[in-house]
Parts: sequence; structure tokens; C-alpha cells
Amino acid sequence: MKQPRRIAVLGGGISGYGSAILAKKEGLEVFLSDMGQISPRYKARLDEWGVEYEEGGHTAERILAADEVIKSPGIPDKAPIVKQLREQGTPVISEMEFACRYMGAARTICITGSNGKTTTTSLIYKIMRDAGLNVALGGNIGESFAYSVATGQYDWYVLELSSFQLDGMFRFKADIAVLMNITPDHLDRYDYCFQNYADSKMRITQNQTSRDCFIYSADDETICAELAKRTLRSRELPFMARAAVASIAGDAYLEPGGTFTASVGTAIVELDTAKMQIKGLHNAYNAMAAALATLAAGVEPARVEQSIYDFSPVEHRLEPVGEAGGVEYINDSKATNVDSVWYALESMTRPVVWIAGGTDKGNDYEPLKAFAREKVHTLVCMGLDNEKLVREFNGVIPNIISTASLDEAMRAASGAAREGDVVLLSPACASFDLFKNYENRGTLFKEWVRANILK
Ligand code: ADP
Repeated sequence: MKQPRRIAVLGGGISGYGSAILAKKEGLEVFLSDMGQISPRYKARLDEWGVEYEEGGHTAERILAADEVIKSPGIPDKAPIVKQLREQGTPVISEMEFACRYMGAARTICITGSNGKTTTTSLIYKIMRDAGLNVALGGNIGESFAYSVATGQYDWYVLELSSFQLDGMFRFKADIAVLMNITPDHLDRYDYCFQNYADSKMRITQNQTSRDCFIYSADDETICAELAKRTLRSRELPFMARAAVASIAGDAYLEPGGTFTASVGTAIVELDTAKMQIKGLHNAYNAMAAALATLAAGVEPARVEQSIYDFSPVEHRLEPVGEAGGVEYINDSKATNVDSVWYALESMTRPVVWIAGGTDKGNDYEPLKAFAREKVHTLVCMGLDNEKLVREFNGVIPNIISTASLDEAMRAASGAAREGDVVLLSPACASFDLFKNYENRGTLFKEWVRANILK
């Protein structure tokens, strides 16, 4: 293939600025263009490397004249400039696709799924780092992968990949691929077709050979259905917990008593999930996946076990904030879809005051109703439009309170909580009606609890 010389980068966020700097370092002609504003931090780095850029709009001629375009994952395929590029046949790729050309002999562990990516990626990174390996963290998390390739020398990259990044990957290959689950999310970017989204997630296995590993949840019906349709060349390492489907022993299997075993060849780890700091069935899946990935990477079993026990929850993911008057407060602001809330409620062992709501993404709340009936006595709806939530849980949860601000919601929730309860923020919705983003929502929740409850 003729190597492209002129590169245009669309988007000046974390993936774009890193890609532009890598292109510059490799001696390519590069131009970065952002429709919005570029943060001063990234501008300073672009200046430092002498990368040409523009913000507040696209100069179409310059972008259309490129041999290849690197698109940031946040820019949808529907964007007019992307459509034009596709129409004229210019390759449009992702940061990963570009950066992997320059990473030499380094190997990758790539994690995707609808939920659990950040937790599993962070856990794998911790295990690798604790084991003394020369490892970088990237993708949707940590530093830009391309920037790390441009400025560092690593043996391993642990990469969190969204479906949008996978869509722009063609020759890229994961040495160790991890697929946590496939449940409905982001359907607005996939023509409201779940199959398109599932196809995108399955790209994590593309180009794998018999030397590579594919780690996946054998409890996930969509993944199993997709696997039945294709033949993979990679070594498959499934993990599972549901005995009904575990007629063959998985490479990692959670026993009903809460202990799991994960094995790769002769390397075996055994963990007691009760002793882990991350709780719930979903975190048992995350830990099993991380154990398989790091054993496959050659980390010693004893080190894998110790690092998993030492790992504490990532911020905004079932993060304990504190307890006062016998009421515990938990921040799960990152739970922006129904499936993540299902696992949050699943893991609750005390009666729950549940704070939910925000921008509904076309949610089907049906799967939550059994746990809601069993565990939740009060639902506090926090959003500009609570009508759907109130309607859906009417008759399911005895006490439903509609609120339109964080302060109002917190007063209602703490007022309804009794000794022994948990107040759980696990919204099932995006945050954009009342907050900047999910981090802002979680941070304000914690600040309120610290200022008014734990004072
Ligand atoms: P992602 O990066 O895929 O969004 P996170 O680790 O940030 O995943 O978790 C997002 C939400 O999903 C949190 O509410 C978390 O508690 C929940 N979650 C974490 N792991 C899983 C899993 N394996 N399955 C379902 N939900 C999960």
C-alpha cells in the first residue's frame, strides 16, 4: 500500500491532538481541524510540535485534499465533511488504526463492551503495572494512545475501545481482545439497529490469528449468537457465571458460593469475590476478564490475585461516598443505561432509595422492575422530564418523588432514607439536562453528601 503523506485530523480532543503529533513526528504533512474550540492544554502541545491547526470551523478544501483522514470518535459518520470524504473515497480511520502502524513490537490488550470497559481496563492496567511491566494506558481513558506511541517506548498498551473507535479500525489487531457484553446503547449512532452496533463490537476480533486471545462473556446471549455466525482463529477464553450455560467449564467460572477460578494453560488463579473491594456480579465478570487477560499476558497468578484484591472502585462507578446515621451513600453516576443499573441494583444488599433520571435514551425499564420491586422503597426522579420514569415505576415502587434539581433530589432522598438503607445514585439516563456530564453529576452528588450528611 502506498503510504499516505498528507494527513488531516478531524477533532482536536485527546485522540486528535495525539494523532496529529504522531503524524508530525513521523514526518508526515499534517493539518488538524476542529469545529469547536480546542483546549489550551492541547493547543500548547500542538504549538510545541509545530502542528498546523484551525478551530471554530473546517476548511473543507484542505481536509478534502488529504490522502488519509483521522477522525475523532466523537464525530458522527453523518457529519457533512465525513460524508464528503467517504464519497470521494478518502480513507477515514481512527486514532488506533493510525497509531498501531508505529508501535513496533509492542503488544496490545484491548477492552470493549457496552458496560464495564473502564473498570476492566483500569484493573488490567493496575495488574500489569503492579507486575512491573512497561505498560501504557490509552483509548477512551488515560493519555492518548497515539501520543504515547509518539513520545514513549512501551512493551504493552492497555486500550479501552468504544464502538466508535472500532468502526475506524481496519488492519489493527488486538493481541489480547476482551469483550465484556453487548447490550443496547448508542443506537442513535447505528441507525437504531442493534445488529449494526453488535457488528461494530465484534470488530474487536478482526485480524486475530491463532497466536492471539479472545476473552468474552459466555453468559452474554448476543455475543454467543454472534460467535455462532463466524469462525475465529484466535484462542477463545470465555468467562461465565450462570450455571445454566456453563455446561462446559469456562476458562473462568464463578461458583455459586462466590469464588471464581480463571485459568490459562497451567496458570490458575482463584479469587473470593467477597474479599474484593469492587462488589456485585458485574464486577466478578470484570475481575474474571482481567484475570484471563493478564494470565494470557504472562503475569504470575499470585500477582494477579493480589492486585485484584487491592483494586478499589473507579470514581463514579458504584463508588461508596460515606455513611451517616446508618445510611450509606453510593455514587454510580456512570450508570447511564439500563443494563448498568440492573447490575447496581443486583449488587445491593440493603433497602434502597434510588435516585434516577435525566435524558432518557429510549430506555426500556422492564428489566429493572423485579429488582425495583424487591429492593427499592423510594424512587427519587431527578430530571427536567420525569414523566416516563414515574409512569413506568408507578405500582412497582411504593414511594415515588419527582424533583427537578440535585438539591431537591438529595433532600427528598435523605429524608426518605431510614437507618440501614442505601441512597444510590444510578440514573439509567444521560446527564445533559441538568449537568455538564456524568462526572459533574457524580461530583456534585458527593459534594452534597459531604456538605450536608457527613459534616
Ligand atoms: P464503561 O466504560 O463501559 O462505561 P464502566 O466501568 O465505566 O464501563 O461502568 C459503567 C457503569 O456500568 C457503572 O454504573 C458500572 O457500575 C456498570 N458496570 C461495570 N461493569 C459492568 C459489567 N460488566 N456489566 C454491566 N454493568 C457494568
